[in-house]
Amino acid sequence: MTKFSDLALSPKVLKAVEAAGYETPTPIQAGAIPAALDGRDVLGIAQTGTGKTASFTLPLIHMLARGRARARMPRSLVLCPTRELAAQVAENFDTYAQNVKLTKALLIGGVSFKEQDMLIDRGVDVLIATPGRLLDHFERGKLLLTGVQIMVVDEADRMLDMGFIPDIERIFSLTPFTRQTLFFSATMAPEIERITNTFLSNPERIEVARQATASETITQEVVLIKPSRRDRAAKEKRELLRALIAKDGDACTNAIVFCNRKVDVDIVAKSLKKHGYDAAAIHGDLEQSQRMKTLDSFRDGGLKILVASDVAARGLDIPSVSHVFNYDVPSHSEDYVHRIGRTGRAGRDGKAIMISAPADDKNLAAIEKLIDKEIPRADNPIAAEEKQKKADKPKTDKPKSEKAKADKPKTDSPKSDSAPEPTQDADRNKRGKRNGRGRDKDVVGMGDHMPGFIAMSFDERKAS
Ligand code: AMP
Repeated sequence: MTKFSDLALSPKVLKAVEAAGYETPTPIQAGAIPAALDGRDVLGIAQTGTGKTASFTLPLIHMLARGRARARMPRSLVLCPTRELAAQVAENFDTYAQNVKLTKALLIGGVSFKEQDMLIDRGVDVLIATPGRLLDHFERGKLLLTGVQIMVVDEADRMLDMGFIPDIERIFSLTPFTRQTLFFSATMAPEIERITNTFLSNPERIEVARQATASETITQEVVLIKPSRRDRAAKEKRELLRALIAKDGDACTNAIVFCNRKVDVDIVAKSLKKHGYDAAAIHGDLEQSQRMKTLDSFRDGGLKILVASDVAARGLDIPSVSHVFNYDVPSHSEDYVHRIGRTGRAGRDGKAIMISAPADDKNLAAIEKLIDKEIPRADNPIAAEEKQKKADKPKTDKPKSEKAKADKPKTDSPKSDSAPEPTQDADRNKRGKRNGRGRDKDVVGMGDHMPGFIAMSFDERKAS
């Protein structure tokens, strides 16, 4: 088995790795680090949770240790699809670079340009950025990319989903042709293949096992829901989610609830809070400071339930989550793998429960095809409870309508049970008769106490 000390990393970097508590390199690290240190391009096909951040951060720190940055000309560039992921890479960088003197800047949206400009002006060794914000700085003339020696693209498949590929291509073309490229993607879609063929030069390709096949420590379940009425579907789904959280009791120490749409992230978080759960939302439309606060609180155990969208949660490193709830069946099957990968990390046990409505059948089948297994169906606790209630009812208890019929005193009239209800027309006729209107003079149904005027004809009444 490879040891970190076999990887030709500098003693200062190795010391930081030791301080982080890592004993042996993960497969992506064992494959990518030596190739990167040799100056080769790397194509890493790996997902989050495999240790891929260290697989590019460690060689980056090692290689940049010598040399100095010039104003506005970063020496290396790490591109990430989301702000959270960029912030996480920056955190990793701080951990691993604690024994060397390197400068970094984080360029993400939601933070003032002024502060970021100041850092760039001073000169940075490592620039960690989201593509949009990086190009904003470039267009404002504050940044030159001609000094970039190493460029890292992290989570390229997510960049593709988010429409960042043209930005990435542009950034590639702004950096020197001689740069070294470390490129990471969980999957190799044809568009990603095209980019790597265009911008990577004879890369070392390292592919690590898909998380879905690797993590056997995750218990997966799907609970089927059939709304009683269309307009009650959302409410019933939220009820079911609460029942599923409650069902696992104390075993559910903390959880991430995934929704497909941002609007549902907000609604579900609000609803859980209303019902006494410690929950908060995280999605791309929230202020950066708010997102960071929520995430920190979830990480340190202050917050129990994080309700999230895929983009916001992508790549988040949250060490131990006991449960993942898929409030919605994801429409991209790969997202299922990413979502459930938030639990059962590093050999721990985890549970992933998904709610599926009849409309989700197609997406559910696509997920099962991707992971190559059938997700066990679990009981719907609400439906089961209702069934039980029905079964517990004493047998003599007739349904209400029958009971009412049974209680009704029987009349002599044979018509009473079988006569059809009067139609509206029949009612109208009756009213016409009651009015008299010169048609029927005999008024029926008033007993002996009929006021005299009612018996009069219309003409007689008019005259009196
Ligand atoms: P990543 O795939 O980069 O998001 O890393 C997932 C998690 O694994 C993070 O919590 C890392 O701190 C941790 N990690 C990275 N490398 C190692 C290693 N060699 N041994 C143990 N844990 C690691």
